Amino acid sequence: MATNRTFTMIKPDAVKDNHIGGILGMIEAGGFRIVELQKVSLTPERAGQFYAVHKERPFYNDLVQYMSSGPIVAAILEKDNAVADFRTLIGATNPANAEEGTIRKKYAKSIEANAVHGSDSDENAQIEGDFYFSK
Ligand code: UDP
Ligand code: MG
Repeated sequence: MATNRTFTMIKPDAVKDNHIGGILGMIEAGGFRIVELQKVSLTPERAGQFYAVHKERPFYNDLVQYMSSGPIVAAILEKDNAVADFRTLIGATNPANAEEGTIRKKYAKSIEANAVHGSDSDENAQIEGDFYFSK
């Protein structure tokens, strides 16, 4: 059964370029409630842990370096059908393939610096949210 929460990060380039407000605005306009919110910097070790599932991928080392290159904004979001609806709102991983009106279409610079993260399943939404907000 789909839960009503997902997890997102605003990635370093988007933070650096002053798009926190623009992206959070699109998220709220998309019907999501911001449940938790935190601006934080990741060490390379912690970025590597977050993306451990991609450890064998050719882009892993660059991704870890990128994600620890400056502060990010982590958030837990709430909405019916949150995981799937948020993937729709952010658009394709590669902004060249992202639909008009999506966050990545508007703010992503490249397949790596693609502005935002969005969880891909309810299980990962829970794990990723706990990574930042476990109490
Ligand atoms: N990524 C990359 N090169 C690729 C594929 C992915 O740099 O060829 C980066 C990109 O920042 C992406 C992240 O790795 O958001 C995680 O990849 P995934 O396939 O999970 O994409 P997502 O779920 O973020 O759309
Ligand atoms: Mg993913």
